[in-house]
Amino acid sequence: MPRSMKHIKESIIVFFIFAGSLWIGLSHFREKKKMKDIQISSSILAECLNWERKVESMGIDPSGAIARISSIKVIKTEEYAGVYDRSGSRIEISSRVFDKGEYSVRSTIYHELGHAVFKLEHGDCGIMNDRILSEEYLKDNWDNLVTEYLKKCYEKRLESI
Ligand SMILES: [Zn+2]
Repeated sequence: MPRSMKHIKESIIVFFIFAGSLWIGLSHFREKKKMKDIQISSSILAECLNWERKVESMGIDPSGAIARISSIKVIKTEEYAGVYDRSGSRIEISSRVFDKGEYSVRSTIYHELGHAVFKLEHGDCGIMNDRILSEEYLKDNWDNLVTEYLKKCYEKRLESI
């Protein structure tokens, strides 16, 4: 083997060792957070913890994406039911949703966390529908809606790293 070829081969090996160590290093130090570590309005904390348990029961670890969310807050607005503000990584839930019922609150939280954690899009499943479903429909179909939603989360689980 000519000297230069050997040199190239060595350089390639050194490059891969370097890139490999860097990748392992970065993934090791990537920030991880649990729901209990971020700012969440007290009225929706239990639902957020419930969501976390359900997602984790699928064998998904959402802590990398949760670390990118700064807060999940209930605010007074009539403009929307919920919103995920990508630039500030904030999730806001309208207090008006509470007037509709507990399933509407739950569904809005799951919807916005779907955007924030798994980059789910409108139409991916019932919960990710852009049309707001009625409290009655959500209540009657909740188990199926959650099963369908968690399947989508699992498909997009790499987005939560
Ligand atoms: Zn949406």
